[in-house]
Amino acid sequence: MTFTLAIVGRPNVGKSTLFNRLVGRRLALVDDQPGVTRDLREGEAKLFGLRFTVIDTAGLEEVTDDSLQGRMRRLTERAVDMADVSLFLIDGRVGVTPTDQVLADLLRRKGARVILGVNKAEGRAGEDGALEAWSLGLGEPLRLSAEHGEGMEDLYAVLAPLAEEFEERAAQDAPEVDVDIPEGSEDEGEAPRITPAKPLQIAVIGRPNAGKSTLINRILGEDRLLTGPEAGITRDAISVRADWMGTPIRIFDTAGMRKRAKVQEKLEKLSVADGLRAVRFAEVVVVLLDAQIPFETQDLRIADFAETEGRAVVVAVNKWDLEAEKQEKLAELKEMFDRLLPQLRGAPLVTVSALTGRGLDRLHAAILKAHDVWNRRVTTAKLNQWLGAMTEAHPPPAPGGRRIKLRYATQVKTRPPGFVVMCSRPDDMPESYKRYLVNGLREAFDMPGTPIRLTLRGQG
Ligand code: GDP
Ligand code: GDP
Repeated sequence: MTFTLAIVGRPNVGKSTLFNRLVGRRLALVDDQPGVTRDLREGEAKLFGLRFTVIDTAGLEEVTDDSLQGRMRRLTERAVDMADVSLFLIDGRVGVTPTDQVLADLLRRKGARVILGVNKAEGRAGEDGALEAWSLGLGEPLRLSAEHGEGMEDLYAVLAPLAEEFEERAAQDAPEVDVDIPEGSEDEGEAPRITPAKPLQIAVIGRPNAGKSTLINRILGEDRLLTGPEAGITRDAISVRADWMGTPIRIFDTAGMRKRAKVQEKLEKLSVADGLRAVRFAEVVVVLLDAQIPFETQDLRIADFAETEGRAVVVAVNKWDLEAEKQEKLAELKEMFDRLLPQLRGAPLVTVSALTGRGLDRLHAAILKAHDVWNRRVTTAKLNQWLGAMTEAHPPPAPGGRRIKLRYATQVKTRPPGFVVMCSRPDDMPESYKRYLVNGLREAFDMPGTPIRLTLRGQG
């Protein structure tokens, strides 16, 4: 359990330099392209062994334009809302500016927990700025140099007690908040599901033009991706935290990296790698297809990768508003799905229109369900009842005249669910019977949309 730190401040104070220092090269992508606009970025920070999440609002150019000023404020507010604590940076060489004062007021009004950082204070620079910073009324200013790495020990000294505080709080909260006892009589005897209090991690993947940006913007319902005319390109793979119909989510955005790209080639390469990174990041992968050109090679490859990586998968067919013959089209899609992606058997297929927002409620429900199933634990008693019924209905084969015996089944892991079946001569078991067992598990315990791992093990 870690905490989240938002780095806020007016443009050019060094937010992204600090973000890069804390996060390293894992997420940030240093590029000298001028006129590049970024939005909220999120990364996993490390500071002398302290780990936490950092959010950055960097990249908004210095402008006098009111609309962008407004956006800066909105982004700042959002970053602060998402964070447990905010690091408010000013430029120690410039001193306190009117924009700094506006932002300081904003932070105070929100009652945010704030650390005041005076950046560009390497050596003796910024001493005056640090004195002036007291006037902001945000407590003792911390002198930093994001570029030269000075003041990092002080930052650590402020953050370390916070980390402890959050760990303690998490430990206290856990038993009450997190246990979700399943409803319904048929679920009696199931082990309680532990739903982590952290946001559900979602990635939307699919070929260019499938509608990923449109969908993500819809889900966020906000202009966090800054698709306005001032925007340049979204350089980094971003994950954004949001509340989607009451569900805390974190969504990984790989979209918007290409079309608006000025440095096209470099970004094309990156976006492929990022698609894969997105899958690794996600708990639930939404494979977004264009209804007009569904199941292209690229779609199949990425869906297969999601399965191999053990992610829960929901297939969403987009641009459904353009379909005239919806019934027929749906039947055709389902047939293609079964034929082309047998490894994702049972994954939900949802039709949506990112443009109009239709079907998004169903997509939401399918994602929650897939996530739930991905986390599911089946009791050993139920599993063995099930195993008995399965072998009775279809006894295992008898290669060489001796029947393979299935003795005992147990679930060994979740995320995705993994099972072990103890049996005689596991090496002689044909794939077809293993598939029968996996499909049986899926049906008996209602586990669509998740890969199921089944291992056969001999005794001894
Ligand atoms: P942002 O817009 O707030 O994200 O600011 P940047 O991180 O892009 O930094 C703006 C400029 O300030 C860049 O030219 C940085 O190299 C420079 N800068 C950032 N941190 C420091 C620092 O600690 N000392 C000095 N001297 N310059 C810095
Ligand atoms: P991305 O490349 O996957 O991020 O795709 P975009 O979100 O940029 O969308 C590509 C194009 O498809 C844009 O012109 C969108 O307006 C359009 N589009 C996206 N979703 C829909 C939809 O549900 N219906 C229709 N008719 N067009 C859509």
